[in-house]
Amino acid sequence: MNEDEKKVVSKMIAMYCRSKHGSKKGLCDECDALNRYAVQRLERCPFGDEKPTCASCPIHCYKSDMRLRIKEVMRTAGPQMLLLHPVDAVRHFYQERRRNRTFAVKSKVNLKK
Ligand SMILES: [Zn+2]
Repeated sequence: MNEDEKKVVSKMIAMYCRSKHGSKKGLCDECDALNRYAVQRLERCPFGDEKPTCASCPIHCYKSDMRLRIKEVMRTAGPQMLLLHPVDAVRHFYQERRRNRTFAVKSKVNLKK
């Protein structure tokens, strides 16, 4: 499932909230809403385990304001993630690359039909 993905997203939002909004414990209301939204999107993602990176996904399921916020989170927390949780980060990016490849192959197959 997307459990790992959910954990990584929540971790990144927590880091972002701590550094940008100065939250000590948990998330501020705004980030809490974003976190819940992101997890919900992952749960409803029709690609499931085969999910490509959201950036390369053909569906773009995020509402535009949420998309802007999550982009900001990725930009801020991405580099920190690599420093603080290198294993999670590398696993995450590696999985995304692998998935993107599988996804590209599948789309090609679909196009041929
Ligand atoms: Zn926040």
